[in-house]
Amino acid sequence: MTTSAALPTPETIFALDACDPLAPLRSRFHLPEGVIYLDGNSLGPLPRTARHRLVEVAEDEWGNGLIRSWNSAGWIELSQRIGDKLARLIGAQPGEVIVADSTSINLFKALAGGLALRPDRRVIVSERDNFPTDLYMAQGLIALLGGTHGLRLAEADAIAQAIAADTAVVMLTHVNYRTGRMHDLAALTRCAHEHGALVIWDLAHSTGAVPVDLNGAEADFAVGCGYKYLNGGPGAPAFIFVARRHQVSFRQPLAGWLGHAQPFAFEGCYRPAEGIARALCGTPPILSLAALECGVDIALEAPMAAVRAKSLALTDLFITLVEQRCSGHGLRLVTPREYDRRGSQVCFAHPDAFPIMQALIARGVIGDFRAPDVLRFGFAPLYLRYADVWDAAHILAEVLDTRAWDRPEFRQRAIVT
Ligand SMILES: *Cc1c(COP(=O)(O)O)cnc(C)c1O
Repeated sequence: MTTSAALPTPETIFALDACDPLAPLRSRFHLPEGVIYLDGNSLGPLPRTARHRLVEVAEDEWGNGLIRSWNSAGWIELSQRIGDKLARLIGAQPGEVIVADSTSINLFKALAGGLALRPDRRVIVSERDNFPTDLYMAQGLIALLGGTHGLRLAEADAIAQAIAADTAVVMLTHVNYRTGRMHDLAALTRCAHEHGALVIWDLAHSTGAVPVDLNGAEADFAVGCGYKYLNGGPGAPAFIFVARRHQVSFRQPLAGWLGHAQPFAFEGCYRPAEGIARALCGTPPILSLAALECGVDIALEAPMAAVRAKSLALTDLFITLVEQRCSGHGLRLVTPREYDRRGSQVCFAHPDAFPIMQALIARGVIGDFRAPDVLRFGFAPLYLRYADVWDAAHILAEVLDTRAWDRPEFRQRAIVT
């Protein structure tokens, strides 16, 4: 493929960074010296405010406030307060989003609740290459329901054709974790509704990185992740969205006490809380919530249009540089070039992807490997510079040109890749 666009030079890169409206946000994060961090889609970096906030919550609120802090420090409202902030990032209203549990568990709640709203239908439609936990949770729920329901998996291009009159719920991930391919959220939601089905969107690789308008699309349910582009910290709690119109009839099976209408009435029978609070289960992790709020607050400072524009510019630049500098090494771009189908990551397939990524990490360029053969690079617009993209592409070229990856130590696999 040829392009008539001028190839980037160090001068154009310098100019891009100098004019970047998001550049001031970089200083809000702790980014270690000598690291180009292209894995913020898997674990975002530490917001500087989070370090202080964690100490404050531990020493003042926990240490001195003790049990009183559930009220006096607002711990009991934290899940809802952060949910209301998150709503602004995904086109939802206050009271439609709440922070709780993990993405997997929230998916289970949404799926169970969605199936219960379509009792005469028995099929869950999803994508064959969906993130495995999403498919596992569906399989687990189907087994729990006694095998009355089935999972229909389709290729990414054939989702719409798989939705039919038997479909209860369409469960999709907006941006694919392995390819960076993005679905048309509005079009597939419309398609599901035309067939009478409900939709659950997994926004794990979208929230904080790409524009999402859940209410604009009339989406039914959504879940998403706190530790990726929201920079909420390792194992940060996740979130769940239930459209206001479904909240009265939404029932989820993990009917814990904090989802009860009156947790401190200690009644013997479960009565769901009004609104989104019925999606809660048990006691929230306050230290983790405190850190997550710091990440969400920074994300809210960045206008989404600027985030998206920079994300596309960073990913475009990386694709261009890698194709220019690494041609002939057998890298195959698996991320779509079309803007309306691209999330905020760039992935290349290569038979030696694993050792190549290890060699990159040894040089401070941190991306990750996704089985079976994908080099994955996430581009988080809040803290990455165009110069980082330039350097990363050149270090990748050097690793390939010199075959620096072809060493036994780079083939050792740890548990987390
Ligand atoms: C990261 C990710 C998850 C993570 O689920 P957890 O329960 O938080 O471990 C779920 N779904 C998708 C699509 C993801 O990318």
